[in-house]
Amino acid sequence: MLYVYLVSGRTVHSVQRFTPPKRSTIAGPYCSYSPTGTFAVCHLGKCKGAWKPPRSHHCSVCGVCRLDFDHHCPWIGNCVTTRRMKAFLCFLFLIPATFCVAIFPIYDLLWKHILAALTASREDPDCQARWWNWYGSWIYFGGPLGRWIWGTIFGFRILQRTQAGLPRTSLIEGPHLGVTITAGIGLIFSLFSAILGIMTFLYVLRGAASYEGFYPPPLRRGSTRQLYICIPDGSVHPLLPGERVYDVGWKANLRKLAHQPFLPPLVEHNEYIWPEVNPSILRRIRDT
Ligand SMILES: [Zn+2]
Ligand SMILES: [Zn+2]
Repeated sequence: MLYVYLVSGRTVHSVQRFTPPKRSTIAGPYCSYSPTGTFAVCHLGKCKGAWKPPRSHHCSVCGVCRLDFDHHCPWIGNCVTTRRMKAFLCFLFLIPATFCVAIFPIYDLLWKHILAALTASREDPDCQARWWNWYGSWIYFGGPLGRWIWGTIFGFRILQRTQAGLPRTSLIEGPHLGVTITAGIGLIFSLFSAILGIMTFLYVLRGAASYEGFYPPPLRRGSTRQLYICIPDGSVHPLLPGERVYDVGWKANLRKLAHQPFLPPLVEHNEYIWPEVNPSILRRIRDT
């Protein structure tokens, strides 16, 4: 259900058309690409010159500007935004959790079967001659790792052939290649999801968006795109390399995530809320 939710609303979710306010009415500091502090507009895709408020980013795959864009996820074919971050993180961490629950009753049996298959494959004279003693097994089918994976698969075939006539009470009682491969794919997906989930969560703690780490972002060290902080008194100050505009401390960043709804509606009509600027940047500007 979470997957279906995250896939849906590709052209509408977190896409909000605001009329740009008058600069004189903005009460707090804000971030701009322009040294004069003017507002950005987007002419790409379906945006057609719409105002691109701070913290929004144009997704070239979806063709729209998203508010609080985090990254475009190719696995769900949709953008992930801060508004959907709770659902996205929950989805990522549910995959390994589900895998652990599913594998728990059979993991020791599966492991035993894998070891038995490997032994059978190593001891089978035909398999020895054609696979283990063939130099190509190190190179052509996935390198040294592939050599052992394929060797084990051949072992399963041997075991299934030799134990074909034995009576069984369950699918997994004897070595079963299909179940083992399914478990292997589940393990790979789980590890991938867990790593992606941890990485994304670390970005949330730092108050940064994932795309700033995946692609050359305007906020990262060595970037050529200069950002500016505009103060309500009319002054504009360049951002120093490495300064994270929206990082308000890990606790406050986490609190922001906690206050987001779990499944926000696909289409929303909210007022634009100017995002809070990192107080240490404002302090630095005040001091200089
Ligand atoms: Zn756009
Ligand atoms: Zn996208």
